Amino acid sequence: MCDIMKKFKLLIVASLVLISMLCTLWGCNTNTNPQKAQAEIYALDTIIEITAYGEKAQEAITAAKAEIYALEKLFSVTDTDSDTHRINTAQGNPVKVSDEVYTIIEKSLEYNTLTKGNFDITLYNVTKLWGFTTDSQRVPEDYEITEALKNTGSHKVTLYGNNEISVSEGTALDLGAVAKGYIGDRVAEVLSDSGAEYGIISLGGNIRTFGEKADGSKWRTGIRHPHENGYFIIADTGEVSVITSGAYQRNFTVDGKTYHHIINPETGYPSESDAQSVTIIGTDGALCDALSTAVFIGGTEYADKLYKELQNFEYIILSKDNTVYASQGLKGSLELSHNYKDMEIIYR
Ligand code: ADP
Ligand code: MG
Repeated sequence: MCDIMKKFKLLIVASLVLISMLCTLWGCNTNTNPQKAQAEIYALDTIIEITAYGEKAQEAITAAKAEIYALEKLFSVTDTDSDTHRINTAQGNPVKVSDEVYTIIEKSLEYNTLTKGNFDITLYNVTKLWGFTTDSQRVPEDYEITEALKNTGSHKVTLYGNNEISVSEGTALDLGAVAKGYIGDRVAEVLSDSGAEYGIISLGGNIRTFGEKADGSKWRTGIRHPHENGYFIIADTGEVSVITSGAYQRNFTVDGKTYHHIINPETGYPSESDAQSVTIIGTDGALCDALSTAVFIGGTEYADKLYKELQNFEYIILSKDNTVYASQGLKGSLELSHNYKDMEIIYR
């Protein structure tokens, strides 16, 4: 080969090396149109949608679905084989449970302290009185609530280590306010471990994103208006959970008064704060879920205090007077939807 050809070849190789080095530095993604797979299933009492991208997206979704069904079997409060049900019916005796249920109960007790009691997994016998987990909803008598409240509180739960747990007789656990957040994280993990590059999981409106989109853009999550169709605000985020609690999904009306499914542990009655809907954004799905419930009970002032204290989440609250209260960390990441441009966002 002549000299000039050799030099030319060398130049081409050098250029290719340089381009690939720059691509690594700038994060170029040669595959901007990866394969997409989607699934919609009914589990955990809600509709779950999974979207994943990448060559292995389809296999990843199959693994994710199996994970959801397996966790549902452990967590469900109604399934008589579940860990939760076994704890609730053990008449005060210790029960050996899965790692997952042990972990979530341990975390939940911690969240009870963090939220100053607003988040409480021991309320099942109170929520059962209201019938939210059944088809027959009713307003309980005061005395029934007073009686049921005697068996609530974290001190009714004992963790023995070694995956053994007991609750006092008369106490029952309900992991419904924390399970979907936790499961969102687990599903994201399974998708990613199974080779999906990035994707999004919606568990009844609770969103978990994972990975970075091929085009490098942020995830955009719409937050549904609690009483109207469509989204009222859109949040640009990274890899997080975006979890919303509101009074709109499960409620019933008697004599013109509407009762919803989020119970104030102090009173045993549906909470009455200044919040219509509460969205919590953060990297720990279980924490976000627990906080969404707790902040819905506590309202805007409570959110502000907790935000300054914990510093590990962001929030968006739609208040009953139709103002949006949002945490400082979301400045520049929120956009009101078309029909809601007149609403005010107050950052705190
Ligand atoms: P959803 O699961 O409907 O999205 P939440 O995450 O706020 O909303 O969970 C509400 C569920 O949690 C209720 O249906 C009930 O089973 C249970 N729950 C109600 N009040 C509380 C509370 N104060 N702390 C923990 N769990 C609660
Ligand atoms: Mg919750």
